[in-house]
Amino acid sequence: MTRIALYPGSFDPITNGHIDILGQSLALADRVVVAIGIHPGKTPLFTFEERVQLIHEAAGVEFGVDEARRIEVISFSNLVVDAARAQTAAYLVRGLRDGTDLDYEMQMAGMNGTLAPSIKTVFLPASPSVRHITATLVRQIAKMGGDITAFVPSCVVSPLRDRSSA
Ligand code: ADP
Repeated sequence: MTRIALYPGSFDPITNGHIDILGQSLALADRVVVAIGIHPGKTPLFTFEERVQLIHEAAGVEFGVDEARRIEVISFSNLVVDAARAQTAAYLVRGLRDGTDLDYEMQMAGMNGTLAPSIKTVFLPASPSVRHITATLVRQIAKMGGDITAFVPSCVVSPLRDRSSA
């Protein structure tokens, strides 16, 4: 049986924190579906296509081309459990950075577990070296001309600088 994990988020853009969780997910599942949430009324910094491209490029560098083939990227604008069902995913992966993430994620896991009992939420702890990283702060630092190289994969640095100064 192929174990499929759905890893939902904004990934605007992918950060080293996301890469950490993606790497842990690859160790647990045969296939990892990165699901980019599309919210009408919210304007992302990078388009869906740009985010897909950056995720594939970063994963190829970080995990190697063969491992990266086990990653697929999709978009979703419906309930995350419906996106997981459509992908026949058994697991819903969430990264935990701190107690604030835990409180929120426990609520989400409870709601999602009620909506779709067969899909199991899996919490993965952020590695200490990346647990402070949030895409929101990274975008703010880039916008103010700060050095973002410690927070994002190398392929993201230039596009993020360019987009932030535009
Ligand atoms: P962010 O919260 O950084 O804007 P997303 O909304 O794309 O990012 O988050 C998608 C998932 O990735 C969530 O489960 C979130 O907890 C996880 N995640 C984001 N950053 C990190 C990090 N630094 N370490 C571990 N997990 C993370």
